[in-house]
Amino acid sequence: QWFVRYLDLKDKFRERSDEVKWLPEHMKIRLYNWIDGLKWDWCISRQRFYGVPFPVWYCKNCGDMVLADIEELPVDPRLEKNGRKCSRCGSSDLEPERDVMDTWATSSLSPRLALVPAGYFQSLYPMDIRFQGHDIISVWAFVTIVRSEIHDSLSPWKRIFISGNVYDPLGQKMSKSKGNVLEPANFIEQYGADALRFWASSSVPGDDIKIKEQDFVRGRRTVIKLFNAFKLLELIRSDKPLKKLNTPPSNMANAWILAKLNSVVKDVTDLMDQYLFSRARTQLDNFFWNTFCDNYLEIIKGYGNTDTDPALQDETVSVSYHVFLDVLRMYAPIMPFITEELYLSYPEHGKSIHVDLWPSFSEEFIFQEAEGKMDYIIEVIGKIRNLKTGNKMSMNTPLERVFINGNSRIIEEGRDIIMGMMKIGSIISEDSPEILVSLDEKQENK
Ligand SMILES: [Zn+2]
Repeated sequence: QWFVRYLDLKDKFRERSDEVKWLPEHMKIRLYNWIDGLKWDWCISRQRFYGVPFPVWYCKNCGDMVLADIEELPVDPRLEKNGRKCSRCGSSDLEPERDVMDTWATSSLSPRLALVPAGYFQSLYPMDIRFQGHDIISVWAFVTIVRSEIHDSLSPWKRIFISGNVYDPLGQKMSKSKGNVLEPANFIEQYGADALRFWASSSVPGDDIKIKEQDFVRGRRTVIKLFNAFKLLELIRSDKPLKKLNTPPSNMANAWILAKLNSVVKDVTDLMDQYLFSRARTQLDNFFWNTFCDNYLEIIKGYGNTDTDPALQDETVSVSYHVFLDVLRMYAPIMPFITEELYLSYPEHGKSIHVDLWPSFSEEFIFQEAEGKMDYIIEVIGKIRNLKTGNKMSMNTPLERVFINGNSRIIEEGRDIIMGMMKIGSIISEDSPEILVSLDEKQENK
């Protein structure tokens, strides 16, 4: 058997592991336990048919070991001996080594294998990050650190991200013998690859994750929602050119959506930087479904009409396209296909969304006053929605007259928005510390 001697290097391995940022941090303990428990050196030889061969022969005459020259590598001693003779007795009767290397002996070199042939070793080593499962911390992560210490006295990466395993819907490990294996290809066939990735993005670093079919359904619905939202933006824009975004916007809803976008960009970026994908996606889902689709798009739906003030129309088109583009950019790592498709449908677009810039937080988009007022208007609209639901009306049911108690100054500013979105003929407002909405008795009894 062939061994790599390393028991005397335990402290070094711990040191290298400390230089790496572990995501999540608590996974590091698994490696420490493994290092502390090591009792034997690393046996790298296996008696198997396939594997990387050891470049070694043995002299049948005197038993001496004959090593290949570095220039000869790679060489399979079972297939060739390159006219070699024993350096001790001169015999050419050589026996090849028949053992091959264990898989971890080669996979421990993965950073080098990726970088050296491409000529990037000097500039990119240690690598930024390793992604791997928790079940192979004591093998793949450990042996990569071993090789990096022995070859280069460096840690192999700056960070290591540990993912969990995928379990069946009941939380059981999948296996052929149990017959509970679910093939990703079937889900891709049924829901699309974006939906599969949407589900995968709900995983928490280090934790195992169950197959949850409702997440595929939600992913699929998000893909369709993105598609439909863009169709609506195109309808509002009709064939007008996309104008440059001018800030601050004159319209309250436009200022509000930019301010909300700004906050969500900050939150999603912070969470992504910490590799908390599922929490980042939740923030983004909330913004896209609730703030953007349920509220903003409902407000601007009618702005494509011919009777809309052209200046408001231009402003709304540029704001809505700007916000939606940032939504696409943030969804791009999670759902690469639909986002690319829609990105390439933009009037002016780059080569690919995946080489485009990540959205950035901008001081220019802080509109506290407009945001506060519009939040208030959204609250009023929420009350009117409840009122409609309570009276078993659809959201499109027109209302002749609605009484609104609350901050009548803000309600006045948002009058057009409230009336347009809730299909209201007239609003009568009165000052009150609390928001209260009510209908004409006549309508309520209809
Ligand atoms: Zn010999």
